Amino acid sequence: MITNLYIIHIRALGLFNNICNQAEDSVEKTLARRQLIVKSNESNSWFIEIKNILRKYNMLEAWWYLDNAPKKGIWTTAVKKKIHEHWSKPIVESTPYYNGLRYLSCVNLEKGKLHPILKINCSSKGDLHRLPTKLKLLTGSYILQSNRIKMFKNEANILCLLCSKDKENIEHFILDCKRLEEVRKPILQEIEEILNDKETSWKCLPQDTKIQLLLDITSVISKLNLDPASVANIEYCFRRLMFQLHMLRQTRILDMQGTIKQQGSRYYSLYML
Ligand SMILES: [Zn+2]
Repeated sequence: MITNLYIIHIRALGLFNNICNQAEDSVEKTLARRQLIVKSNESNSWFIEIKNILRKYNMLEAWWYLDNAPKKGIWTTAVKKKIHEHWSKPIVESTPYYNGLRYLSCVNLEKGKLHPILKINCSSKGDLHRLPTKLKLLTGSYILQSNRIKMFKNEANILCLLCSKDKENIEHFILDCKRLEEVRKPILQEIEEILNDKETSWKCLPQDTKIQLLLDITSVISKLNLDPASVANIEYCFRRLMFQLHMLRQTRILDMQGTIKQQGSRYYSLYML
């Protein structure tokens, strides 16, 4: 919603800049000057809306830009900076209040730029399939039983559908569920070896740190003293791990529902990517 709104504002202000750069006697510029003088703040006039948008982002008054039209490149940079400043602060500040975002680090977040987790140089052709799973888990939008019970009134079972041993939350899914051990174990072994080379023991890390490392390594890079090459290797393993856990979970659930014959083979072939 916020994303859509700021894109609309960037485009509207871009159009306003085009009008500001027109000749003084052009129809649009004449109309702009007239409406900004005549119309009230409650008017549905597009130019009044522009005036309100400029005030919202703490920019100068619309008439000033009509008199001193900035060049398009300068204008676009200034507008994006103001808009990102306006929206980034409340988003970053509200993150701690959303439980689903507790592993998402905002420390090195730059306004209007990719999150640092997406800048790690470990991309591969498999990322097209793998990244959505990881990003859903990182942003709390991956639906596990502990989420379903909050979203669907008829859901009563909070236990893991695969093992029925414990509440299915993100920690259980990523680290604990024994029914997913077959894909988890070999990849964690790879991670352990990378960390051992850096004199860090995976087994000695607290569970919270392990989940943090798996979901958003950017906030623990300096704490664990990891170099860029190790970070890239570890992140590559993590993306594979998340995706393979997801695919095996889906396969097992379909299996239990008796639909594996129709859909299972597709999942089986994909989850080892
Ligand atoms: Zn389980």
